[in-house]
Amino acid sequence: MRNNFAVMICGLIALSLAGGVQAQSGHAPHTHGEGELSIVLDGSLLTIDVSLPGADVVGFEHKAKHEEDINKVRNAMASLLAADKLFQFQNSAACEAIEAKAKSSLIEGDEDHDHGHGDFDAEYAFRCASPSEIGELTVKLFEIFPSLHELHVVLVTGSTQSATTLKPNENIIRFVN
Ligand SMILES: [Zn+2]
Repeated sequence: MRNNFAVMICGLIALSLAGGVQAQSGHAPHTHGEGELSIVLDGSLLTIDVSLPGADVVGFEHKAKHEEDINKVRNAMASLLAADKLFQFQNSAACEAIEAKAKSSLIEGDEDHDHGHGDFDAEYAFRCASPSEIGELTVKLFEIFPSLHELHVVLVTGSTQSATTLKPNENIIRFVN
């Protein structure tokens, strides 16, 4: 019954994305336990942007000044850079991570700007030899960051835009061609 846990993203229910895009690009205070995921498939290139509350990634959101906190942030960055462990594609799609970047306002940026809420932001790019075979994308962020319980996903493929919410037991994004 695994398919019951899959989240269907369907072009027929394309939503207006104005609100979601705004929430992602801005620095509005986040909700702890909830992250943002933006996925764009353009030809063979699939890009993923992730924003997660510091509270869920390292357990704090103040500037990391002491060595212990700085090390926590560095370890979290390393986890976030392991693109292949966070996102799992169907083998037949032949997707390969070609870029992974991570940053955090806990070590850079302006604390006031975040209203006391620090984030981790990561960007990924995958090259998929057979993009029509992507089918499903399994997101493993919930396993790496256990206090995370929701990921708000915006998916853009070609002319289709849709939005959904992933949960620890519903962590599969289904692509519909
Ligand atoms: Zn916060």
